[in-house]
Amino acid sequence: MIGADETFDFVIVGSGGGSMCAALVVKSMGLEPLILEKTDLFGGTTAKSGGIMWIPNNRFMQRDGIADSTEKAMTYLDNCVGDHNDTPGASRERRLAYVTQAPKMVDFLVEQGIELNRHNYWPDYYSELPGAVEEGRAVFAELFDASALGEARKKLRPNFVPVPVKSQEMWDLPLYKTTWIGKKMMAKVALRMVTARLTGKHWVGSGAALQGRMFEKALKAGVDMRTNAGVERILTDESGRVTGVQVRIDGKERVIAARHGVLVNAGGFARNQEMRDKYQPGTSTQWTATCPGDTGEMIQDMMRLGAAIAQMEEMVGNQAAFPPENADGIALVVSEIAKPNSMVVDQSGERYINENQSYMSFCQGMLARNKTVPAVPSWLIFDSEYMRKYMVTGTMPGSKKPQSWFDRGFLKKADTIEELAKLCGMEPGKLKAQADRFNGFARSGVDEDFKRGGRAYDRFLGDKGNAPSPSMGPIEKGPFYAYQFYPGDVGTYGGVITDTNARVLREDGSAIAGLYATGISTASVMGRAYPGAGASVGPSFVWGYVAARHAMEGAKENAEAA
Ligand SMILES: Cc1cc2nc3c(=O)[nH]c(=O)nc-3n(C[C@H](O)[C@H](O)[C@H](O)COP(=O)(O)OP(=O)(O)OC[C@H]3O[C@@H](n4cnc5c(N)ncnc54)[C@H](O)[C@@H]3O)c2cc1C
Repeated sequence: MIGADETFDFVIVGSGGGSMCAALVVKSMGLEPLILEKTDLFGGTTAKSGGIMWIPNNRFMQRDGIADSTEKAMTYLDNCVGDHNDTPGASRERRLAYVTQAPKMVDFLVEQGIELNRHNYWPDYYSELPGAVEEGRAVFAELFDASALGEARKKLRPNFVPVPVKSQEMWDLPLYKTTWIGKKMMAKVALRMVTARLTGKHWVGSGAALQGRMFEKALKAGVDMRTNAGVERILTDESGRVTGVQVRIDGKERVIAARHGVLVNAGGFARNQEMRDKYQPGTSTQWTATCPGDTGEMIQDMMRLGAAIAQMEEMVGNQAAFPPENADGIALVVSEIAKPNSMVVDQSGERYINENQSYMSFCQGMLARNKTVPAVPSWLIFDSEYMRKYMVTGTMPGSKKPQSWFDRGFLKKADTIEELAKLCGMEPGKLKAQADRFNGFARSGVDEDFKRGGRAYDRFLGDKGNAPSPSMGPIEKGPFYAYQFYPGDVGTYGGVITDTNARVLREDGSAIAGLYATGISTASVMGRAYPGAGASVGPSFVWGYVAARHAMEGAKENAEAA
């Protein structure tokens, strides 16, 4: 490209899930990638996240004798994702490509020295459907000692949990008041933290472990990675082929040429209110837990080049509350809402949903309910037994809650359900009747209204130590409490449409030459469903892997032909 300041083989926009994976593929084929990251930290929302990847039929399942296969995974996706005209990113062809490539991507990472493993029990989210695996398909990175990064440690985006825990441990840890597993986990994590202090280790877990490990390997492989490097425009030649990017690095404009393609891995648009108003009206940038760079301009720039988009109204909902004095400003309360001795009601005081379903479908249900009865925000109603046993918006079980929660009306407290209803602006008799009905279900262990606890995933989210149902317990011991929560999100789920090689497509189905995209910049291969833990990070890695291989194999063929 004439006038370029620099030239690389493959230019990757954003340092999200798929980016470093793609860069390692490029390096493994003897070519030079460049990663451009807009913020001052590497890792994207992926580093903040649980770091789980949903990988069917992976090598760890095979190692542990957990039955899975391409066919079984496809049966599951056929059932929970299905074929719909308005979700072209989730076509059967793309789903098959995902299921086929995902285990290969994991094998590649393991060959690169990334220490991965599988969670031993994390049911698929529609665990009642054919093809689901109850043990789960959740792959994660082992804890990572960030000291291995040396000075670059400061460049890794931190995880949303400030203590070094694996995602699965995070489910057991809050149950330390009610289960032996929880108590053991608490002791294990405390010991880990003390030992780390004594030995000078900087353990990080979950998404920070995954991206930390990727970052370490990328640095070792000599991948050129730059922060404060926001791409402003994707460049094309007169034929429309993508040839590079225009980027502002540390405030200076630069033109970077890409010999064999550009991969956009720049996240979604959860932090762009204008785009939310257009595609997801009634939702707010205040409700997202994504990283600050999640502002959608790369999706818009790909649209400028003619890229087709789909599923823009979808997000990965995640129930969120906003207690005063919360350090992060947002508390994700998915697992708290699923604990016994509590129920969710709309603003009229009526229960309307299975509290223990997956976060994405819960929030879809909440938004749907809000169309007929105000349900955004909804209320979590719970009793003093819940207060004693479970976390409340991230605070430890039984701990004294800040006075400001009461003074500022966040946490309501009353001696009876009827009084609580009045504080929440509900009709007292109605809330009492709802609680009585729910308590009956809790005692029998069968939710006749919404089947809470009816599937393995529901029970997984509950409390193993609670009987007869891990998901339900009566709300009967005063004082009673309530707080409001919103359909927050951990990312949007729509974007540009890509093919089985991760190439960005136009409305007419043709590929924009030289342009690839992955992660939540794209319309998800999972359509409007969230099949299991890791359905965002998994696809980001897999399509990054696929894109880099496709682009570099094309480059090799061209070189051989020349
Ligand atoms: C608390 C939490 C827990 C979660 N847990 C999980 C989980 O366990 N498993 C799962 O699958 N999902 C999880 N999610 C969701 C998941 O983390 C995200 O959907 C996913 O990480 C998005 O990955 P990505 O690769 O598309 O983008 P990201 O990881 O967000 O990376 C995009 C990067 O691009 C950069 N960027 C944006 N624009 C530009 C530009 N113009 N130029 C250069 N750079 C740019 C951004 O700054 C960002 O660093 C979780 C999310 C949260 C918040």
